[in-house]
Amino acid sequence: MASPQLKIWGTLYKEVVTPDLCMFCGTCIASCPVNVLLPTDDEKPTIKGMCVLCGLCYHGCPRVELPVDDIEELLFGRTRTEKEKSTGVIRGAYSVRSTDSKIRSIAQDSGAVTSIMAHALSRGFVDQAVTTGMREKEIWRPKPYVSSSLDELCRTARSKYTSGASVSGLAEAAAGYPNAKLGFVGMPCQIEGLRRLTTSPLGHRKLGERVKLAIGLFCFDSFKFNSLFIDFVQTKNQIPLQQIEKVDIKSGRFSLSAGEKILMDLPVKDLGSYVLPGCNKCQDFCSELSDISVGAVGSPKGWTSVLVRSAIGEEVFKSAIDAGVIESKPLSDVKPGLALVEKLSNKKKENQAPYIKHRTAGQSLA
Ligand SMILES: Cc1cc2nc3c(=O)[nH]c(=O)nc-3n(C[C@H](O)[C@H](O)[C@H](O)COP(=O)(O)OP(=O)(O)OC[C@H]3O[C@@H](n4cnc5c(N)ncnc54)[C@H](O)[C@@H]3O)c2cc1C
Repeated sequence: MASPQLKIWGTLYKEVVTPDLCMFCGTCIASCPVNVLLPTDDEKPTIKGMCVLCGLCYHGCPRVELPVDDIEELLFGRTRTEKEKSTGVIRGAYSVRSTDSKIRSIAQDSGAVTSIMAHALSRGFVDQAVTTGMREKEIWRPKPYVSSSLDELCRTARSKYTSGASVSGLAEAAAGYPNAKLGFVGMPCQIEGLRRLTTSPLGHRKLGERVKLAIGLFCFDSFKFNSLFIDFVQTKNQIPLQQIEKVDIKSGRFSLSAGEKILMDLPVKDLGSYVLPGCNKCQDFCSELSDISVGAVGSPKGWTSVLVRSAIGEEVFKSAIDAGVIESKPLSDVKPGLALVEKLSNKKKENQAPYIKHRTAGQSLA
């Protein structure tokens, strides 16, 4: 029998999954050395097989512990200032879009994410990128993919507003490409998972350290796929998922469209019951622990707000500007600009007041 001090999958299940603190980032799945942790279709990790009691899953989980100050010191060489309290450390804030109209046409907002990661691949900042597309046999259900070219990245462009345990894709990339430098795109919770990996003394640090560029998305909420897309959209509203070309959340509205045709448009607040329960414990709107954060909020239509945070983030961003793959202007030159990003960041933190820097399941989240 395991000693009471041993923190393993069973402990993680009891402390994080059962009380609905899990946001299905996939970090535990990525950490498992014997691949017995798997994603389920109801956005929870599960075990199928024999646990080897290593505890890597428990010690990699960002909902067990997230030492924000330590992570900021490691990534940025300093912790956030009082002015950066709501958004995290920022070196530069811009409004950005891809210069390639084809990328813009297949992207969610401006194609900045796809263009920046494609540039990082082409210049050798990273060798493989883990991004999130859809399952081949189940449209709109997210799944991580490993890409090494712009064409492959384009297949994963656009937002899937549900969680696909994207961090788990890092394990697949690391196994398939043992010496590759990895890039990663993910939601704030997934970036938290990745950073927990790199700072946890008992976690799978080597996997986290393989990631050389992490692009984080802004995210207020993620949703439960089965309830929102299968039960509500497909069954109740009779909209076949195959018809949907774009899912969007803007200015408080949730919309589904196919070309110019709007298939559904309703207030996002009406979808409260479909929000993934783990999101209700999240304090991070703008991926505060990424190298570069990207989201629509703050910028005009067709552009995205980009917060450059780390030295590597700045190097890749400037290189992409110099190469002409993206164009940018200071975020201070556009309306509503950083003020709206700060407002939404504060709102998300207020959900969980008071803001906790060193978060642990027992102290701040349960
Ligand atoms: C669940 C979710 C909620 C979001 N909420 C907000 C919000 O409240 N406010 C806001 O301003 N922006 C939000 N965004 C970000 C926004 O939708 C765009 O992703 C962002 O503006 C970048 O646009 P782009 O054209 O540069 O991206 P693209 O070039 O189209 O690239 C999008 C990237 O996002 C990745 N991605 C898509 N879906 C997922 C997913 N489910 N999990 C992990 N990665 C994914 C893709 O792999 C791709 O790399 C959200 C995104 C997601 C996935």
